[in-house]
Amino acid sequence: MQENPDIRSMSWEELNNLINSFGEPKYRAKQAFGWLHAKGVSSNSEMTNIPGSLREKLPEPVTLEQADIRQSADGTRKYLFKLRDGYYIESVLMRYKYGNTVCISSQAGCRMGCRFCASTLDGLSRNLAASEMLDQIYRITHDINERISHIVVMGCGEPMDNFDNLIRFLSLITDPRGYGLSRRNITVSTCGLADRIRDFADLNTGVTLAVSLHAPFDELRRTIMPITDRFSVAEVCDAAQYYFERTGRRVTFEYALADGVNDSDECASGLARIAGRLSAHVNLIPVNPVTERGYKPTSQTEVSAFKNKLEKQGINVTIRRELGQDIDGACGQLRKRRMEEESD
Ligand code: SAH
Repeated sequence: MQENPDIRSMSWEELNNLINSFGEPKYRAKQAFGWLHAKGVSSNSEMTNIPGSLREKLPEPVTLEQADIRQSADGTRKYLFKLRDGYYIESVLMRYKYGNTVCISSQAGCRMGCRFCASTLDGLSRNLAASEMLDQIYRITHDINERISHIVVMGCGEPMDNFDNLIRFLSLITDPRGYGLSRRNITVSTCGLADRIRDFADLNTGVTLAVSLHAPFDELRRTIMPITDRFSVAEVCDAAQYYFERTGRRVTFEYALADGVNDSDECASGLARIAGRLSAHVNLIPVNPVTERGYKPTSQTEVSAFKNKLEKQGINVTIRRELGQDIDGACGQLRKRRMEEESD
């Protein structure tokens, strides 16, 4: 039996073709697109200005089931969503003065194997469809009854390893006929799939690229990020440079500091050299301890000292605030715990 088409993942044109194939007028497609993306409905029954006969013909949209929410004292909310086939993903809502930011997942699990990360411990279950990335935003919008202004693709998964769905997601979430989120307010983070970064640059989506560097030297980086075997630091940096040149958008380097691992003076100079060459911004964060991993965070004093060293070299640096510390440690932990409970 053929599965129903995933209408929330359909582009404007694809949805128009579908509605047209039902012999319905064009304005019905516009209405449906609005319900699916501007309003983020979870079922066709909510499309009140569309006649029942058409609502019945339309496949039901993919919608995530909210399996858990944790609310932190600082306002951060962590959502656990269940997918139709039983996998779990996480999204995080962070409240800033400038608006609501949501960190979304791009895959259920991950196959990149970064040693400090909880999302990759059980490998990759599957890619998320565009609709499943979109619905993280739509469900959270409904939950808080406020608009989301910023998105970071920094939850579970490697977005560049789910490239086509990522591009589809970006095009749909920024469509002014739908949710209409500003491209400038979206950041996509990658562990450094250099070939994909170049493809991404060529598409000029207008979003910010963040590269998770975490070590400026191949030898060290290889011990924490196995992807370094495929793409050297130099290759990742060349691709980041290409992104900057092609799009005119400054790249951000993510750098998680682990005590005694990547927080030496040598690492600070190496990172300053790389970031300086690209006029890149550096985001520092003390590594979030994950039970299954041995890394300890660099102390606040040492993090500040590391920041000063970079600033002395003229680098633009911020220390990422650790929101939601009280509701769960590193990304992927809530999801992992739930999967373990269910397999008991
Ligand atoms: N795969 C993408 C996006 C998801 S990870 C990437 O690698 O960028 C989002 C960010 O969280 C990355 O910078 C990642 O390295 C970082 N991260 C993962 N686990 C972490 C931990 N335990 N402590 C601090 N940062 C972590």
